[in-house]
Amino acid sequence: MSGKPLPDSAHQQRTNKTQEPHAAVTRPLDLLVIGGGINGAGIARDAALRGLSTALVEQDDLCSATTRWSSRLIHGGLRYLEYGELGLVHESLRERELLFRNAPHLVRPLPLLIPVYRDSRRGLSKISFGLWVYDMLATGRSVPGYQRLSREEALTHAPGLATDGLLGAALYHDGQVPFVERLVVENALAAREAGATVLTHTRVSRLLLYGRKVCGVELEEEGGRRRELAARSVINASGPWVDRLLHSLPRPPARLMGPTRGTHIVLARFPGAPQAGCYLEARSDGRPFFVLPWNGLFLVGTTDIRDDTDPARVRPAAEESDYLLRELAGIFPKAGLSPASVLYRYAGLRPLPRQGRRFTGSITRRHQLRHHAPLVRGLYSVIGGKITTYRSLAEQAVDRVCRQLGLGQLSGTTGGTPLPGAGERSAVLGELAARWPALSAASGRHLWEVYGSRAPGVAALIEEDPALALPICPHSHAVGAEVLFALQHEAAMHLDDVLFRRCMAGLSPDLGAAALEPALAVAARHLGWDALRQAAERARCEGERALLSAPG
Ligand SMILES: Cc1cc2nc3c(=O)[nH]c(=O)nc-3n(C[C@H](O)[C@H](O)[C@H](O)COP(=O)(O)OP(=O)(O)OC[C@H]3O[C@@H](n4cnc5c(N)ncnc54)[C@H](O)[C@@H]3O)c2cc1C
Repeated sequence: MSGKPLPDSAHQQRTNKTQEPHAAVTRPLDLLVIGGGINGAGIARDAALRGLSTALVEQDDLCSATTRWSSRLIHGGLRYLEYGELGLVHESLRERELLFRNAPHLVRPLPLLIPVYRDSRRGLSKISFGLWVYDMLATGRSVPGYQRLSREEALTHAPGLATDGLLGAALYHDGQVPFVERLVVENALAAREAGATVLTHTRVSRLLLYGRKVCGVELEEEGGRRRELAARSVINASGPWVDRLLHSLPRPPARLMGPTRGTHIVLARFPGAPQAGCYLEARSDGRPFFVLPWNGLFLVGTTDIRDDTDPARVRPAAEESDYLLRELAGIFPKAGLSPASVLYRYAGLRPLPRQGRRFTGSITRRHQLRHHAPLVRGLYSVIGGKITTYRSLAEQAVDRVCRQLGLGQLSGTTGGTPLPGAGERSAVLGELAARWPALSAASGRHLWEVYGSRAPGVAALIEEDPALALPICPHSHAVGAEVLFALQHEAAMHLDDVLFRRCMAGLSPDLGAAALEPALAVAARHLGWDALRQAAERARCEGERALLSAPG
């Protein structure tokens, strides 16, 4: 980073990288990012790594909205080929490869089967051609190319498939990020390590202007305290809240977003369940949907329905669960599923660009970055996008901000920078087994899948108190040490942050019920949580469980 001298704040940032998450920031920041979903966290990381003084502000916890309610696929989007979005598919497939390389503990290849029936709207030849193009667009591909399968071969991969009218199948590979929450957390932690301030449970209540230029934001902390934070540029990465945030401007722009709701249901392994993921065509309306092996369970979704309700209140409708169950039963007739088979369900709003009355599936998933000049200079909004392309979106966004700040010489480095937990699985498992024999093998594997090469840092806490090696959750095999690690090192503030978005016990079939009291006991013993605090934290976790388990 030579050449033009940096303005004060960027320079100060590069010489003072030990900022605490809640430290007061006195000089104007180079960049303030609103929203701790995948896009906001990715932007904050990119900016901080370039040396910009950066803050990330999230009203709830990291990854508490859309990113979490997704299908958790890192994919090129085979379907987008039908809409001619070759550029988007190419970019997504490039990003998929970068994620395999930079986050191997979090993102892994997933085989996907597309069965084809006599009455399918897309025949085997059309699908094979699409997959051939898909493979061609995947430069530097590390996963196997697609295969066309006979009917018999299809049934060996998924013996539970309905056989009537089955012609064959195609098999291909994409990526899955089972714990996308951790991808967001690691981006935010990397941002913090590079000097960014990360504020969670803090809402941006107002954008502040100086004439026609953004000059900061007003914050409302948990508990109601308000304060202002000065910034030379602001990125509104608030997902489906983008328009609501812009509404605080004296002259808000026309609506930018046209969200659609997508619902998933979570099932236990069912009779005839496939080994691979399945990309299926709904028999009633021809819509594509996924059945994905995930977290020892199955994730089935999604729907795509226009929905303008408050993003904080979006819930799955009963008809959506019924639709997914019915379509699944049509293709896996031996599954024997009923509404009671649904362990839990969730819905999220795709923060898509407003595009009139188009068929929802055809609305582009390509991201846009809108600069609000000349109305408000220095203010940008992120519209649309996918988890898969968050890194390239972040790079493009920070490039724009750097040019605006006169720092165009700073270029992004995230493409070649592994996330904090990237490492070698066997080396990490070996170290855990050798140094902390009290950890069970199942807990060791869990620690790798959640923290990657940072797992020994979690296990080291056991040296202070051997009881921290004990599992707190019989499903995920999470251990007590993770509660402390999350609250002390991973910006978690509440127990629901810990269970649902750090140690991931909350996504078990019981939604973290078994882990709740052991986790509270760890916090009481080590952090002095009194009965009042425990009751409040218990209520938060139960609220979160109720949200996920409530019928539509
Ligand atoms: C059903 C469904 C399935 C999907 N499946 C996939 C998939 O498989 N693969 C893929 O690549 N993409 C998928 N997507 C798309 C992807 O999930 C989204 O594009 C992406 O998660 C959007 O991330 P984000 O950071 O922009 O938004 P969010 O994750 O919603 O984050 C925005 C954050 O801003 C915060 N916020 C809002 N207002 C304020 C405020 N005033 N102050 C502070 N913070 C605020 C919110 O609390 C929230 O945490 C799917 C989307 C849906 C809905």
